[in-house]
Amino acid sequence: MAESDPTATIDRALADLRNGFLPRFQAASTEQALRDENAKILGKKGELTAILKQLGQAPPEGRKAIGEKVNALKQEVEAGFDKCLNDLRRKQREAELSAPPFDLTLPARMPVTAGHKHPIAMVREDVVAVFRQLGFAVFDGPEIEHEENNFTMLGFPPDHPATDMQDSFWTKSNKLLRTHTSNVQIRAMTSLKPPMAFIAPGTVFRRDDDATHSPMFHQIEAFLIDRNVTLAHLKGVLAEFANRLYGPGTPVRLRPSYFPFVEPGAEVDIGCVFCKQPDGTRAGCSLCKHTGWIEVLGCGMIHPVVLENCGIDPDEWSGFALGMGLERIAMLRYDIPNIKLMFDNDPRFLAQF
Ligand SMILES: [Zn+2]
Repeated sequence: MAESDPTATIDRALADLRNGFLPRFQAASTEQALRDENAKILGKKGELTAILKQLGQAPPEGRKAIGEKVNALKQEVEAGFDKCLNDLRRKQREAELSAPPFDLTLPARMPVTAGHKHPIAMVREDVVAVFRQLGFAVFDGPEIEHEENNFTMLGFPPDHPATDMQDSFWTKSNKLLRTHTSNVQIRAMTSLKPPMAFIAPGTVFRRDDDATHSPMFHQIEAFLIDRNVTLAHLKGVLAEFANRLYGPGTPVRLRPSYFPFVEPGAEVDIGCVFCKQPDGTRAGCSLCKHTGWIEVLGCGMIHPVVLENCGIDPDEWSGFALGMGLERIAMLRYDIPNIKLMFDNDPRFLAQF
C-alpha cells in the first residue's frame, strides 16, 4: 500500500519538486518573478517547507534520511536560483548594451527657451571687466574665515564698535561667515609680496534684513599696493571706473568717511545716471533724492597698521582699497526697489532683464 506510506509520499513530493523547480525558474522573465518563484518553494509557506512538515508522519528510523534529502534538495534549489539570477542579470545587461544608444542630438519635444544671467551676475561681470582692463587680477578668498583675517588684521580691535555694527554669523570654532570681501586683502598681503593689484568679487554675510539689506549679499573689493601710491591714484582709478561703467564724463566725488582699515577713508558718489541731462548736468530725481549724486562705494588709503599686520613696510609701500555692494549697483542700474526680489528667483521678476 504505497499510497499510505508517508515515506514514499514524501519521496514522491521531493522528486516532483526536484524535476520541476528549474524549468519554473527558467520561465521567469524578470528578477521579481524569479524571486517570487523561489519564495513559493523555499519561503516559510513554501512547498519544500510543507514537505518538511510531513516528516513527523514518517517512521522515526527513516526521518534522518528524509531530512538529508530535504537539505540536499534545498541546496540544489538555492544553487539553481543563483544561477538563474545571474543569467537573468547578464541578459538584461547585454540587452542594454546592444540597444541603440540614446541620441543626445535629437531636438527636445518641448521648445527650449534660453535663459539669461542674473542681474547680479551681469553687474559683477561688468565691474570685474572694468578692473581687469585697468590691470587688476582676480583674487579669491574663503567665505568661512578666521576672525583674524576678517577683523583683527584689518585693524578692528576685539571691542571695536564696528564688530558690533556688523553683527556676524559665527561658527563654533571661532570662525565666521565673512562680513566683507576685505579678508581677501589680508590673504593676498600675507601670501604675496607687493606690488599687487587685485579685485575680489564674492559673497558676504551680515545679520541685516530689510528692504535694502539681505543677510547674504555680494561685494567687490579692489586694492592696489605699490611704492608712492597716493589718494590721487585712487581718484584716478575711481574716475576711470565711473567712465567705463556709467559712461564717459560721469563725475565722481569723495566724501570723508570712516572705515577701520583705511586712513583716510571716503564714500564715493557718482553723478546720478537717472536724471542726467544732454548737457551733462543733473536735474535731480527721486533716486538721487534731488541731489544729483548717488553713493556707490567706500574707499580709502590702506591703513599703515594693516600693512604692518601683514608684514609689509608702510614706509616703503602704500596702497588703496575700495569696495562696493553689487546688489546696490544692480538696484541702481535696473531701478529695483527691494533687494529681496533678487533672491526670490521669481521668473516674473527675472524675465524683465
Ligand atoms: Zn537723479
